[in-house]
Amino acid sequence: MLYRRLGRTNLKVSAIAFGGLPLFFQPPDKSIEAINLALDEGINYFDLDEAGNSFIPEKVYLDGGSKIGQVLKKRRNDCFLGVKSMRQTYEELKADVDLALERIVKGTSREVIDIFQLAFLDTPQKMEIILSKQGGLRALEEAKEEGKIDFILGAAHNPRTLIQAIKTDRFDIVEFPFNIIENEYLAELIPLAREKDIGTVVMKPLGGGQLASIADLSLRWILQHNVDCVIPGMKSIEEVQKNVEIGIKPERLSAGELETLHKLGAEVGKEYCHRCGYCLPCPQGIMILGVIDLVRAPMLSLEMKKKSYHQVIKGRLKSDPNNCVQCEECVEKCPFKLPIPTLMKRAVEMFE
Ligand code: SF4
Ligand code: SF4
Repeated sequence: MLYRRLGRTNLKVSAIAFGGLPLFFQPPDKSIEAINLALDEGINYFDLDEAGNSFIPEKVYLDGGSKIGQVLKKRRNDCFLGVKSMRQTYEELKADVDLALERIVKGTSREVIDIFQLAFLDTPQKMEIILSKQGGLRALEEAKEEGKIDFILGAAHNPRTLIQAIKTDRFDIVEFPFNIIENEYLAELIPLAREKDIGTVVMKPLGGGQLASIADLSLRWILQHNVDCVIPGMKSIEEVQKNVEIGIKPERLSAGELETLHKLGAEVGKEYCHRCGYCLPCPQGIMILGVIDLVRAPMLSLEMKKKSYHQVIKGRLKSDPNNCVQCEECVEKCPFKLPIPTLMKRAVEMFE
């Protein structure tokens, strides 16, 4: 396995690390099998994702505890652990650090969280809260001083807010989506992170599953760039094996392979939402990116998508694509000129 230095943390992480989101949909025995194989093969960074649980405080970190937490009881010294919180205030983050310690690493040989992540730093509003005195970043800095966590990671889908985070010099690592379609991070963010010796973790290497048919090309293309590690989501021993092969020797892409990657990227890119949020607010209150995610996500079954559409999009977020009046204000603001009104119509056809 190829290892790279994770910026100023000086941790030596496997170039292919473990994206934990798919484990959320797997039973503990299958998850534990995949995690153990990954460790055996030299994958040493696990980036956990609480997914749906992040909105149900009483359930947060229980899923991680029942899966990676079980493995850590025996193998804590074999890996670095990244734990995520999507919340934002000082009190919330203080509570999340203690909860994660209690539910995931308690009783292991190293009761510390290597990397604690502030996720979804996507909007200027959230950044303002996070960076303020009452914000979550201060809670993480205190947790670091108290030895509860080692490093702080900021994650976002928006290069502008993440660049702001880098410039504060209060983050050790940044995490962002990067693939042949989402390559806007090459221009400023990656060079700036390098200059400041901040670690770089790549999420969404397969575009949320939309580049899965050429996963090996996408992963090798990413590793050709100046980033430290990439976290493809994994849920089975087969997926771990395939990713490990790439991590052992990520060959440079041939001209033909590059052409194939560009071709699919251009095709998928026509309707690919970068989650940058520039299209918001919609005058009808539609949470455009969430709706597009559901329409396009290949990982979820139609049944699961319908459930999320009715419970989350229409229910909790009060964001009903039926209310789209096709005004195209969003298209004007979208840097990628996505056919948003058409996608809203498609959501209604698919899920109503
Ligand atoms: S086209 Fe639809 S989604 Fe876009 S801004 Fe208008 S109402 Fe909102
Ligand atoms: S629709 Fe366009 S502007 Fe809106 S979040 Fe997606 S990529 Fe960004």
